[in-house]
Amino acid sequence: MTDDTSEPRPTHASRRALISGTAAGTGAVLASAPGAAAAGDGSGHRSRSVLDADEHWPDGPGRRNRPQSPDAELRAIMRAVDRRRIEANVRKLVSFGTRHTLSSQTDPERGIGAARDWIYDTMSRYAQASGGRMTVEKQSYVQQPDGARIPTPTTITNVIATLVGSEEPNRVYVISGHYDSRVTDIMNFTDYAPGANDDASGVAVSMELARVFATYRPRATLVFAAVAGEEQGLYGADHMAQTYQDQGVDVQGMFTNDIVGSSTGDDGTRDAHSLRLFAEGVPTAETDEEAAVRRSVGGENDSPARQLARFVTEVADNRSTGMRIRVIYRRDRYLRGGDHIAFLERRFPAARFTEPNENYAHQHQDVRFEDGIQYGDLPRFCDFGFITRVARVNAATLWSLATAPGTPKGLTVDTSQLDNNTALAWEAVPGAAGYEVVWRPTPQDDWTHVIRVRGTRTSTTIDLSKDNVFFGVRSVDARGRRSPAAFPVPASG
Ligand SMILES: [Zn+2]
Repeated sequence: MTDDTSEPRPTHASRRALISGTAAGTGAVLASAPGAAAAGDGSGHRSRSVLDADEHWPDGPGRRNRPQSPDAELRAIMRAVDRRRIEANVRKLVSFGTRHTLSSQTDPERGIGAARDWIYDTMSRYAQASGGRMTVEKQSYVQQPDGARIPTPTTITNVIATLVGSEEPNRVYVISGHYDSRVTDIMNFTDYAPGANDDASGVAVSMELARVFATYRPRATLVFAAVAGEEQGLYGADHMAQTYQDQGVDVQGMFTNDIVGSSTGDDGTRDAHSLRLFAEGVPTAETDEEAAVRRSVGGENDSPARQLARFVTEVADNRSTGMRIRVIYRRDRYLRGGDHIAFLERRFPAARFTEPNENYAHQHQDVRFEDGIQYGDLPRFCDFGFITRVARVNAATLWSLATAPGTPKGLTVDTSQLDNNTALAWEAVPGAAGYEVVWRPTPQDDWTHVIRVRGTRTSTTIDLSKDNVFFGVRSVDARGRRSPAAFPVPASG
């Protein structure tokens, strides 16, 4: 297939041929990165590695998929996010000296117990504005010695603010930061461990959004958490995720904000308007059966975490947040993990927000001055304007998720016979006014096209071969608010 301009515009019938010819022939990466699509090789021919999707893939069926722009309520929420409170809360958390999981739980001024009580008291005060819809709890259990980072039975306590959804209390979206901190020696629970960036910054995001959201009434439930035991082994988040699973809670999205405090890397690079979002491809908790399907027909770029990440870029990468979302196609950074993994292990869609460049002199370090370098995770290295924008990204994400209908469930693609259509079916979603099929050429990152399904039907057949593109289905309400997309599983029944 060529891009000969004398060729007639593809008809409905030739669309499939065009797609299959292109997909089979080039193996090209269709560029979606800004600036890449227009590049050439200087010979007058476009380079095959930077093919413009518009010229090599049909522009339909459907219309172009566009980002969701923030509504008036969301803009008001984002304006209410207060930089001064975020800074004050980070500094207050640092003032407890250490928040190491093994530090004192009874000292009223120093240690993780004092931090826990202050977070609880502060969020409880915020919750008073909710008219009883937001509750704050200390969720505790005793972690037995693990032969590694927990030497004696240790109480782990998460502080969790829950704003119960007005229509669907059991559909839940979670943001968390971890309030425990550490220095160089993971077992050192006495020395000064300010943990300003790691992770008072993430806790401050949870706390500030609990305050701002307390007066709002989203459809679904929002959870603003400060968890403990992260540095010792993700213990708090693990307990929290297990509790949700045991209670049958439908967690449709979880984000950990961990190390979201600085915009400056160790080489001095400053990028104050980008935020990384780590989202896994192959699911952590994939079953053998699911793996077999994936090996057969793909889907390694269509995990629930990736759908969540696509959603974040559609609702939060904009002028209102002041942030670009840089989705990273891996579960977490090399050698490191975070609290989202505890949720992924239980099949909850989850991802991690982290600053764009890290400075390891300011993480997990004894506070000291050495060879002209100040080590330690001190508030002076935080960029509080940056954390404020991170909070706005979270606000846009949570609001968009919790006011829209939920992600469709039970989505299947009919594989009972060989044909060149795509027949999709799914379960009705509470509160949905309708549904949209989204699709993209397989080498694309984000959904490029959207097709509105007629009425409130929960099945449709698209005149485009399932062999050649990826499909998803999302729900939409009467005001046009959309859910993240679901990805279909093959069904021949
Ligand atoms: Zn951390």
